Amino acid sequence: MDTNHNDLFAQRDMGIYVHIPFCKQKCMYCDFPAYQNLEEYYDTYIYALLQEISMFGDSYPQARTKLVDTIYFGGGTPTELSLLQIEQIIDTIQRTYTLSNDCRLTIESNPEEIDKSYLKGLHTLGFSRVSFGVQTFNDTSLMFLHRSHNRKAAIDAVQWAAEVGFTDINIDLIYGLPKQTIDEIKENLAIVSTLPINHISTYGLQVERGTRLYHLVAKDLISLPDEPLEDKMYETMMQGIQELGFERYEISNFAKGGAYSTHNLKYWQYCDYLGFGAGAHSFFEGVRRANNRNVMPYARKIDCFEFPIVEEEIIDQQRAIEDYCFLALRTKWGINTITFSEKFNVTLESIYDSTLQDLIEKNLILHEGNSYHLTPEGAKHGNYVFSQFIEG
Ligand code: SF4
Repeated sequence: MDTNHNDLFAQRDMGIYVHIPFCKQKCMYCDFPAYQNLEEYYDTYIYALLQEISMFGDSYPQARTKLVDTIYFGGGTPTELSLLQIEQIIDTIQRTYTLSNDCRLTIESNPEEIDKSYLKGLHTLGFSRVSFGVQTFNDTSLMFLHRSHNRKAAIDAVQWAAEVGFTDINIDLIYGLPKQTIDEIKENLAIVSTLPINHISTYGLQVERGTRLYHLVAKDLISLPDEPLEDKMYETMMQGIQELGFERYEISNFAKGGAYSTHNLKYWQYCDYLGFGAGAHSFFEGVRRANNRNVMPYARKIDCFEFPIVEEEIIDQQRAIEDYCFLALRTKWGINTITFSEKFNVTLESIYDSTLQDLIEKNLILHEGNSYHLTPEGAKHGNYVFSQFIEG
């Protein structure tokens, strides 16, 4: 029997994501909504963003009373903004929504673009967690990627963040770069071991259509590591991070001492979140929405008091089950069969029995207690496993 749509998505808490689509310079592999040389539009954008935050609360008054327990400033590079602009955004969120007493604020940053006093200012504004887009500490690779920082700036940024009081510090690390070596990955991990970092997000380089990297690869001007070498990089990274005492709690995310990304857990645990800004995504009461990625079309829509939405999808029970399964499988907790039955009014096995048995036989998932979760081999072939839960 289908669960009522409102019951299915009734939730007490939610997260808020704020997208700042500006960067000092565009990295060669990046296909995010992130643009360089738009300084003259910053004020217009902030004005639109503040409007959007308020407008959503006016149009969906039930959102105002939900407890917001995570706020995440992502990008782009949110630290391109002044402290005053960031404060204005936080104030508008506070005036419009209900923040929990322990609401956790995270901000993404690029190491080159901050100094100690700016970080101190962020901490004073209430941020306790900072996520640095380090990628690698190797200067040659950083230059190749067209990143704006170097190794020293990355190390300084992490140390300053800890000195001014950030309790949670994440860095992003990348593998699979052209000319990257296993030794570079090991050196990166050796540097991590000396720094006050308690969270790492790691991912393999993806060649996305339309990026500068895509064109260089297409023209054979750059070659990527072959599959055996990339596999070795993956193993070195995954094993090395865990040897440093980090727990792999999500397929690409590692934490020390339980310092999980509570905001990203909202996505993986199928919770509500509101996304504001160009290219931001929301999931609220069973409806997914995506905003226009481009800064001026986004701002112009809001100027006309319209939401800048380019995609909207009402999630039915079938789709909710599929999403729930593959998102839960990304985490170490996997799919809890009791939670699943309570949520969907049907047992997991009654829908996916043959899929589950097949994946167990292939050593890609394990059934332990009330949970089905990925094996290390399953984590390596995550996309294949997830696709088995989605109706073709
Ligand atoms: S800093 Fe991040 S968001 Fe900005 S261009 Fe580079 S990868 Fe993209």
